[in-house]
Amino acid sequence: MHSTLVIRPLLIAAGLLAAAPAFAQSAADAARDPKRTEVWTPVPAVVATPAGKAPSDAIVLFDGKDVSAWESEQGGRVPWNIADGALTVVPGSKGIRTRQHFCDIQLHVEWRTPRVTEGFEGQNRGNSGIFLQELYELQVLDSYHNPTYANGQAGSIYKQAMPKVNASRAPGEWQAYDIIWKAPRFSQGGGLTSPARITVLHNGVLVQDDTVLAGRTEYIGAPSYSPHGCAPLYLQEHDSRVSYRNIWVREL
Ligand code: MG
Repeated sequence: MHSTLVIRPLLIAAGLLAAAPAFAQSAADAARDPKRTEVWTPVPAVVATPAGKAPSDAIVLFDGKDVSAWESEQGGRVPWNIADGALTVVPGSKGIRTRQHFCDIQLHVEWRTPRVTEGFEGQNRGNSGIFLQELYELQVLDSYHNPTYANGQAGSIYKQAMPKVNASRAPGEWQAYDIIWKAPRFSQGGGLTSPARITVLHNGVLVQDDTVLAGRTEYIGAPSYSPHGCAPLYLQEHDSRVSYRNIWVREL
């Protein structure tokens, strides 16, 4: 009796010891199974991306003809010219804004400054601007051999952040901005909880890399924030015949 009580646990322990290497081996095999790190669901939605056109899930804001997504900043019809697939600023008119309001977006915009530059320099050469949420300007300017303050040239966040490089094409050539915009967040009390952030590719080149904005872009003085919600995109009229085409946006 006594001997059985002692021997049986010993036999069981010996059996476990014999099984342990096999168990450890199978655990190690499982850890090395490539399937352990595969994620199959959810399946990302399919987005068609035809070359040179808006992705299938984008909101087309201007396709070369239709400006119904836009209105004058004063309300009413767009006071700019539409010809040859482009929407061109009429100097002395007003800026235009989208009817729809946006917060976080991916935005594609193609733009062209006037080929004729004689008599214009600095901020007066091909000036327009893309205002996110109507308040934050990504500068549009002819910055091809056209010196001006660096935080006011093409690709700058006006008077806040100069572009990393000058990727400008010659006046009269079409250029593109691809923009990732993260809207600022405000608390119920109106305090800033998260500043706006922007990433910009200019003609495919990174010029703003998750840049944090200090507030609305100002011509004079320091930037600051005031609470607001989603808002229109706004294109600036700055006395230059800047043209736009192929404008689309994806809400993020
Ligand atoms: Mg401007």
